[in-house]
Parts: sequence; structure tokens; C-alpha cells
Amino acid sequence: MATQEKVDVAIVGAGPSGSIFADVLARAGKKVVVLEFGPDWDYKQFVSSEIWGKRLKHAPRFQLAGGHNPGHGSNAGWGTGGAMIHFFANWPRLHPNDFKVKSQYGKGLDWPFTYDELLPYYDRIADDVGISGDAAQERRWYPVGKAYPMPPLKTFRQGDIFNDAFKAHGIPLAPMPVAINSTPYKGRPACVNCGWCHVGCAIGAAASPLVNHLRGARGRGAEVRPYSYVTRVLTNQSGDRVIGVEYFDAKREQHVQPAATVVLAAYAAEIPRIMFNSATDKHPKGLSNRNELVGKYLMCHSAANVWALFDEDVQNYMGTAANQFMSYETYDKRWPKKGFGSIFLRTGAAMKPNVGLASARPDLFGPPLADFMKRAARGLTRIGVFGEVMPRAENRVELSSDKDEFGLPIARIIHAYDQDAIDSWDYGCEQALEIAKAAKPKEAWRSGGPGTAHLIGGTIMGTDASDSVTNSYGQTHELANLYLAGAGLFPTEGSVNPTSTLMAVSLRGAEHMAKNFGAIAS
Ligand SMILES: Cc1cc2nc3c(=O)[nH]c(=O)nc-3n(C[C@H](O)[C@H](O)[C@H](O)COP(=O)(O)OP(=O)(O)OC[C@H]3O[C@@H](n4cnc5c(N)ncnc54)[C@H](O)[C@@H]3O)c2cc1C
Ligand code: SF4
Repeated sequence: MATQEKVDVAIVGAGPSGSIFADVLARAGKKVVVLEFGPDWDYKQFVSSEIWGKRLKHAPRFQLAGGHNPGHGSNAGWGTGGAMIHFFANWPRLHPNDFKVKSQYGKGLDWPFTYDELLPYYDRIADDVGISGDAAQERRWYPVGKAYPMPPLKTFRQGDIFNDAFKAHGIPLAPMPVAINSTPYKGRPACVNCGWCHVGCAIGAAASPLVNHLRGARGRGAEVRPYSYVTRVLTNQSGDRVIGVEYFDAKREQHVQPAATVVLAAYAAEIPRIMFNSATDKHPKGLSNRNELVGKYLMCHSAANVWALFDEDVQNYMGTAANQFMSYETYDKRWPKKGFGSIFLRTGAAMKPNVGLASARPDLFGPPLADFMKRAARGLTRIGVFGEVMPRAENRVELSSDKDEFGLPIARIIHAYDQDAIDSWDYGCEQALEIAKAAKPKEAWRSGGPGTAHLIGGTIMGTDASDSVTNSYGQTHELANLYLAGAGLFPTEGSVNPTSTLMAVSLRGAEHMAKNFGAIAS
């Protein structure tokens, strides 16, 4: 086993959350190494093809159980940039009531800080990343903060077609804020509306760590080591500090990377797994897990699509993988007549053969599917529904008895929705179906489900070790020089896509680490 030279910060995972830590700590003059399981991507090598795009996503390394499985679709980062290199770039934010669900509604959990405390970080991330949208229109629903740096993206018929139907249901729409350039921004070009974002934007119009924080970190001297699979975090003999990580390289040779601090930014399923696998006699249940909360309170968004097929050309092949419009009108947690939790409606995302057309009718196969896809290629559109689900300790990540190719137990995810979640999802879908029908398509139908999207929680933050794994900065309660980053920290999830929030939370955590570095480093 080779031992590398000691660094100030070892970061596990080169997705958006790890890249922010790398950028902030490199800017603070620290020696940073980022260990990334997958390859080192260059967006200029991306090819607008669904077959080619499969190489951006790795095979899952977790087992599923429990009833409503989170699946793999929204949880598939691999290589520099993480899942953000092929995400759909929707950029909505949480609302003030999402941070105080327990205090305001007597359900779920509270965050250890308020929306107001996170707001400056949301605004700074929007500037760094480059967001297109219209904050003025969103202010009818919540105090969104500063104007976005770019105006909204161009719209196409498949989004516009629903405008009147939503209005008729008393649900106003606003442009979706998106992490895609509507104008040239910070040296990157404007989007050309080709709709291939889900296999990686080959011109750099979509934001990702490859064009912002990871690039910034490298410019400031951070080293990025691709094909480095981290298996364990190492602790000192007394068990009160982490001292580095152990990893395998592309040749399957094992290394130790000594480090004064460690950041786990490997996404919600993998972080608890690494913490469990790092158990020692001083941490017999895994790192920072004396309270047995590691892995608990795992959440997904309930998800569905309502499909509408028109005879006319709705321009569904143009635009972006991000939606054109969204509404927070249904975001009040008491809005659903059945169940509890906010509902987020969106519409107008571009469709390609796999992402959209084929998945609209999973019951079809062979000639009937080909027939349907011919009609759908120009006439199909949809309304997307995300529902909020309350955190429950029994939804969790634990270790499986199955092992990976390096002999370490893989993660087992146990997840099921409660009745509140199923009822609110059902109510949200029924509303979306009524709206879709009001636009007078040839046919409209609901997808099956409830489906799932995004993996959230599992290493939640809170006020102290009685309720959480980390403090509000992602610093673990038991090991002052171990930080966690990403949506795994969220105590509740709202019903919006998580990346704007996890990047704002990461920026807050990284600056805390930089400021307190002298006191915490081993
Ligand atoms: C298809 C799809 C569409 C999405 N659309 C949206 C959207 O529209 N809006 C939105 O807000 N979010 C969206 N998301 C979610 C978004 O991509 C994630 O929230 C975000 O990428 C999470 O960032 P992260 O840095 O925490 O984790 P990731 O991006 O998952 O990065 C984690 C990195 O850690 C690496 N890693 C894992 N284990 C190890 C290990 N043991 N050793 C070393 N490295 C490791 C992985 O290879 C990966 O590169 C989408 C995701 C997918 C897959
Ligand atoms: S639609 Fe725009 S952001 Fe998406 S891949 Fe094409 S150019 Fe890039």
C-alpha cells in the first residue's frame, strides 16, 4: 500500500458539493486533493446521443428494499462534475417554511438555520453558476432574493400550450430558473436549445463543476485525482480526529492519502456507507455514529408525469432538459386535500427518444411502441409533479451482506412512502391531469407510481448529537475535522430539485471550515 504526501484537505467526490469545498479551501491557500471514483471529463468530448450518454452514469452499487424504491435515475453521478454534468438544470429554491416544518406544522424536523441565513449563499451560488430566470415573478410566492444574472430562456409551444389551462385552474406559472445560459455568461456561450442536456452539454452553456467550481479549484492549485475509489476514512488511535482516507486507484492498487481534514461529498447513499465501513474499536458502529443516526431519515421526492398527446407540432424536440415553466402555487404544505406536503408543478422540458417519448408508455412494446413514438415525436408533452415526503427514521441506508469488487459491503437502501406522501402525490397528479385535459389534447394520462426522484437525508444536520449527525455546517459532532456535504445533510426536503440548496449549504460549510481550519486540522 502506497502512502501519499499529506494534504490539508482530502475531498471525496468531485460533484458540485465537493467542488465547492475544493474551490473555497484552495482559495484559502490550503493544499487540496479531490479523489473521484470516475473519470476526468472534459465537456467538449460529450456527444449528443443517448447511447453515448450512458457512459456518464455508473452502475448502482446499492441494493433496494422497502416498497418505494429510489431507483438509480436521479442518483447517478460518476466522474468529475458528478451528476451535475448530465442533470436537467432546474434551479428552484426551498421556501422559508421548508426550514421550520416541525415548528410550523408539528411534522417532520426543523433545519438548524433559517431560510434568511441561507439566502446570501443562494444568491452567491446563482452568480457563480449562472442562472437564467425571473426572480420578480417568483416574488409573489416567497422572498427569492436578488435578480438572477440572466433573463429566462426562450419558450416553445409545448410549454406555452399549458399556460391558459394552468391559469384557468388558478395556478399561475413563472419561468423555471435554470442553470443554463440564456445569454453568454462568464466566457460561456448561450444555449442553442438542442435539448440534449441530459447527456452533457457539449458547448458549456449548461453549468457544471467542469465550468465553474472545479475549474476554479484547479486554477488555484487543487489536485483532482480521477479513478480513485475511496473505501474508508482513517482515524487516529484515540479516535477523536480523522487522519486521511484509503482508496484504490485505476490499477486497483491501494493508497493512503493522509490529510489534516476530510470532506465526504460522495452523495447521499455512498456517504453513510463509507462512514459505516470506516468503523474502528473507537467507533464500532461507524464514524460519528454513537447516536446511531448515520443512514437514518433518508428521503426521496414522490414523482410523476402527466402526459398529453396533441395532433399539432408542439416543438417538444426543442428547448432544454430543464422545464420552461413552474409553479409554487401548490407549495403550501396543507394545499393537498389529501395527505400533507408541498407539491411542485413544472412543464415544458424537451423530450428525446429515451428521456420522454419511450417512458411515456412503458406498457407498449414492439410495433405499438414504434407507432406511439411516431405520433409522440412531435405531439407529446407533459406536466411533472414532485411531492414532499416527511423524514422518517425507518427510511435508511445500512450495510448489505453483499460486497463490492474490493471486498467492502455495499449499501442497502430501505425506503417506503407513508400514507401522507401517497395521498398528496395522488392529489397532485389528479390536479395536473385536470389541467392537462383542459388544454384539449387528443389524449391525457397519468404515469404509474408513485415514482421517486432525488436521494436526500441519511446524514442529517441539526443542533446537537441528540438529533443529528452534523452541525449546521456539515461538521460531524464526533469528529471536528470530518465534514459532510450534499443533500444528505437536509433534515427536510421541500418538493423542489435539490442542487441549488445543496450548493448554497456547501458554500456555507466550506467557508466555516476555511475560517476554523487552524482549530480543527489534525
Ligand atoms: C438524470 C438526473 C437529472 C437531475 N436533474 C436535476 C435538476 O434538474 N435539478 C437539480 O437540482 N438536481 C438534479 N439532479 C440531481 C443533481 O445532479 C444532484 O443533486 C447533484 O449532482 C448532487 O451533487 P453532489 O456533489 O452532492 O453529488 P454527485 O453529483 O452525485 O457527486 C458525487 C461524486 O462522488 C463520487 N463518488 C461516489 N462514491 C465515491 C467514492 N467511494 N470514492 C470517490 N468518489 C466517489 C461520484 O463518482 C460522483 O462524481 C439530477 C440528477 C440526475 C442523475
Ligand atoms: S439545450 Fe442548451 S444547455 Fe442543453 S445541451 Fe443544448 S445547448 Fe446545452
